[in-house]
Formats: sequence, structure tokens, C-alpha cells
Amino acid sequence: MARKIRDADWLTEAAVDAQPAEPCWLCGRLLGKTVDRFHPIPKSRGGRDTVPVHPICRETIDANFSASELVRHAESGTALTDNESVARFVKWVANKPADFHSATKAGR
Ligand SMILES: [Zn+2]
Repeated sequence: MARKIRDADWLTEAAVDAQPAEPCWLCGRLLGKTVDRFHPIPKSRGGRDTVPVHPICRETIDANFSASELVRHAESGTALTDNESVARFVKWVANKPADFHSATKAGR
């Protein structure tokens, strides 16, 4: 997914900062400057809707659920935080700043 934030730096920066604060779909904290779009129902399973999440939250979801598990959760309406390690992550990340990102392969 290409990020086009390079053109007209000064304008884009201001625009990004002025965006209304949106909560993360997984952890409920406000989103930071970097926002990932996550498919609650994977694209490979026909899901079209996306929700905003922190990059670190997206990685947690990816690490804990397979595509079919995500579909099962979406269909039954159960929260992903029913998963013990996801629940533990959400608790742990609760007091971190919005742009906090632990050193992972995708991190910078
Ligand atoms: Zn989050």
C-alpha cells in the first residue's frame, strides 16, 4: 500500500494534524499519525470494509488470527479481545502513546 504523503509537505502535515481523532478499532486508543486500515473480514474472504487501527494493533491481529478465525469472529460478533493474548496486548498498550511502536520487522 503506497503512502502518498510526500507532495507539498507543509500542506500535508497540517492536514494530517487537523484530522479528527478517531479511535482504534482494536484497542480503542486514539490513532496517531500512522493509521493502518484493517479488514475485519479478510479481503481474500470477500471482506470489503476496513477499520482504522494502529500499525502495532494490526500486527497483533495478524499474529494471533488466521483468515478463517477472523471470519468466525466477524460472523459471531465476538470481540478479538476474547483471545487471551490479544486481551493482554490491549491492556499492555493502553498507556502507550498513539504512535508507539515496538521494534518489529515492519517498524522503523
Ligand atoms: Zn490500537
